[in-house]
Amino acid sequence: VKEIGKPERAVITTCAYCGVGCTFRAEMRGEQLVRMVPWKDGKANRGHSCVKGRFAWGYAHHKDRITSPMIRESIDQPWREVSWDEALSHTATRLNAIKAQHGARALGGITSSRCTNEETFLVQKLVRAGFGSNNVDTCARVCHSPTGYGLKQTFGTSAGTQDFDSVMDADVILLIGANPTDAHPVFASRMKRRLRQGAKLIVIDPRRIDLVRSPHVEAAHHLPLQPGTNVAVLTAMAHVIVTEKLADEAFIRERCDWDEYQDWAAFVADERHSPEALEAVTRVPAADLRAAARLYATGGNGAIYYGLGVTEHSQGSSTVMAIANLAMATGNIGRRGVGVNPLRGQNNVQGACDMGSFPHELSGYRHISDGATRALFEADWGVALDPDPGLRIPNMLDAAVDGSFRALYVQGEDILQSDPNTHHVAAGLKAMDLVIVHDLFLNETANYAHVFLPGSTFLEKDGTFTNAERRIQLVRKVMEPANGMSDWQVTQALANAMGLGWSYSHPREIMDEVARLTPSFAGVSFARLEEAGSLQWPVNAAHPDGSPIMHEDGFVRGKGHFVVTDYIPTDERTGPRYPLLLTTGRILSQYNVGAQTRRTENSIWHDEDVLEIHPTDAENRGLNTGDWVRLASRTGETTLRALVTDRVAPGVVYTTFHHPSTQANVVTTDYSDWATNCPEYKVTAVQVAPSNGP
Ligand code: SF4
Repeated sequence: VKEIGKPERAVITTCAYCGVGCTFRAEMRGEQLVRMVPWKDGKANRGHSCVKGRFAWGYAHHKDRITSPMIRESIDQPWREVSWDEALSHTATRLNAIKAQHGARALGGITSSRCTNEETFLVQKLVRAGFGSNNVDTCARVCHSPTGYGLKQTFGTSAGTQDFDSVMDADVILLIGANPTDAHPVFASRMKRRLRQGAKLIVIDPRRIDLVRSPHVEAAHHLPLQPGTNVAVLTAMAHVIVTEKLADEAFIRERCDWDEYQDWAAFVADERHSPEALEAVTRVPAADLRAAARLYATGGNGAIYYGLGVTEHSQGSSTVMAIANLAMATGNIGRRGVGVNPLRGQNNVQGACDMGSFPHELSGYRHISDGATRALFEADWGVALDPDPGLRIPNMLDAAVDGSFRALYVQGEDILQSDPNTHHVAAGLKAMDLVIVHDLFLNETANYAHVFLPGSTFLEKDGTFTNAERRIQLVRKVMEPANGMSDWQVTQALANAMGLGWSYSHPREIMDEVARLTPSFAGVSFARLEEAGSLQWPVNAAHPDGSPIMHEDGFVRGKGHFVVTDYIPTDERTGPRYPLLLTTGRILSQYNVGAQTRRTENSIWHDEDVLEIHPTDAENRGLNTGDWVRLASRTGETTLRALVTDRVAPGVVYTTFHHPSTQANVVTTDYSDWATNCPEYKVTAVQVAPSNGP
């Protein structure tokens, strides 16, 4: 037993793992963190936590952490440790030279959903005001960008509608493409509490997730759809609601565009959209689908929660809009117990999107082409901004291969491991003149980097994170940065080395700038956050104490907007060579690509990715649990062990993507959401065969 010693002081801060946003007392002895205790007054967690936030913080002191800047002329040379001054001046000189030779649009940056709002805001400001382009994107590109698009189109704002507590007033919970017991455990506990009180649960998921049947909780309906058919399932549910006259026409007439509703209702009412007509596509028994639709429409308050099983599809944005259509058609918007709620993956993915990390939007989701918005920023920043949207991550990589994109600053993301089609990402990075990785560890992307700037953990910085319920919470510095600078200071130092003359002395000044320039954050300041504990945006004159529930009196965009969403099958098809469909997810003890959790001292963090396969498919291939298998797609192949289970349906296999040794994204394809380029991680045609191991 390791002697941890009695704590001498404590700092309240916010978890840096998932979008639940639990707050903790970080208990210190001298400069050493001895334990993380879930904080009873935390508004998102109320004294609860999961295993990651409570125990998986050892990565902060891990021997793999890089604490000195490093540079090299080319990626086949060894790294050379240098001083901060040399690293920053070398990087700035190269950025300025590339800009002078190839133009501003040859440069870009990627913000991190693990960093604070203030750090993210500075990276996008550096790209727009310093590099001179709008080539800024974020990891939401590969997870919730369809949420941003779909909810903005239908409701007028790119965020979930409810606070977490609202679930305690739900009568029917419709869970689609999300597995909260593994990915959002503290919220899942609250949901289970409500289910134990008698709320009904509908699960739409190709896999039998734990919530379908667990102690004291059993879903009323599990619709195990064929991966890639979300829109067909939701259209069939809408068909039942409209044709059986279960829609809330009074709500629709008052709150939504009635003409659009009628167009949408006529579309979904068509017989080709009935559950029976679509059964061959969805593989969901029509009777089950009808029963689920009736329950959602008539069971009282209906609340929809969804995750990446909705967004990471070629129809991700259509699925988000189909969900919003369903909520509006049944009047399930604008009060407690209802709503449409994306369960955000990373701790600050909501905040990263809010802060202007997309190439077409400034903070607060205002389009870069809007002259009045641009003028506001130009006056404050003292520079002219490019009026045209910049490149998304996949377009930056394409442009690098073509030679028109030359330099990339990546803060806190490992795009080589997390983005689809690893070979394509590698080719794009390799083609660039300058790749700057700003991270805790030499990650996979750093194999293609020329500059490594050491990053800081959430324990080493002040700032704010925004969780999945739009709750802005303080992150407080628990210990001094191992590398001497918090991430916001590194970005500021780089900006100043390029000649920008920034002078922030604390992240609170960055938040003041965000509030000055962003209407939904107008009433946010560190002082108000200290006083209130947290605030849910919008915080402004109309809502000085924030907004736990959105769209109460009317939609942000005015009238709710019904969008016709026709089911279009993905181009990724099974066939004789690739007869199975692969879908992906997470486990409770790991976090994304595992960079932090795998560097924590405890055996539960040293597992491996496995491939779940149905007994029939396993038997056909002579496979047993524990056997090595070769998983191959049209894009690539990898090797991992099999887990034979009927949690997945025949014809479907499932794995996680936490370990670099597996590199699950070697097999995923280039197909992506039509509106946002979010990769289609959840549908890949594959073959599985016995293997002798890696
Ligand atoms: Fe951290 Fe999420 Fe776990 Fe809470 S539920 S402790 S925010 S990982």
